[in-house]
Amino acid sequence: MKKKIIITIDGWSSCGKSTLAKQLAKMLGYVYIDSGAMYRAITLFFLRNHTDWTDPKEVKAALKQIELHFEYNEKSQQSEIMLNDENVEYVIRDLVIAEKVSDIAAISEVRKFAVAQQQRMGKKKGIVMDGRDIGTTVFPDAELKIFMTADIATRVERRFKEMFEKNPNITIEDVKSNLEMRDYIDSNREVSPLRKAEDAILLDNTNITMKEQLDYALKLYNERCGK
Ligand code: C5P
Repeated sequence: MKKKIIITIDGWSSCGKSTLAKQLAKMLGYVYIDSGAMYRAITLFFLRNHTDWTDPKEVKAALKQIELHFEYNEKSQQSEIMLNDENVEYVIRDLVIAEKVSDIAAISEVRKFAVAQQQRMGKKKGIVMDGRDIGTTVFPDAELKIFMTADIATRVERRFKEMFEKNPNITIEDVKSNLEMRDYIDSNREVSPLRKAEDAILLDNTNITMKEQLDYALKLYNERCGK
């Protein structure tokens, strides 16, 4: 049996990280973890509980009340995020959450809380995790690191299609400004800003198909693990 490794997929918002991560995990029989879902679920908790996240004491107290884990859903065939035992996979995709999540993810206490759990999830390896700081901070020794990008118009179009299905009132401008704002905050924050790890492989998927992207990632995996 091949040795199990850790695969990290980081990159800009909406460039298809989770699509690739899910496909890879399925092909390899690995666990897929969506680290962004954890920051989104924390944001949902803060919004629901009117937590003042500019106050470190309130943040600490709120984090103490949060329990996050993932549960596999047979129907959707993916692991979904549970916030204090409530499945919040669907609600955290709302624009209301997307508008606040980057501010909350920039708070160092919040990052410490999420990163510690992410590192525990990777203890046994055999995991594909996507996010912004997975190859740089969460698993700096991961065997395979991919950093994804795509041009902004392509990313906006992809995310718009996804969100429009749920909310026909959404405009392309709403989506574009949200992506640009999140990318700006994510790459300029003090703690673990979005960066390509030096040893990450750059994957620009603007002009390639999903199949080509998956084949390329599998080739990288085989190079790391031997055929
Ligand atoms: O991946 P997704 O777009 O769902 O992530 C939502 C937000 O969570 C990102 O814009 C970023 O602010 C934050 N995030 C992060 N670090 C990660 C994953 C997500 O800061 N590892």
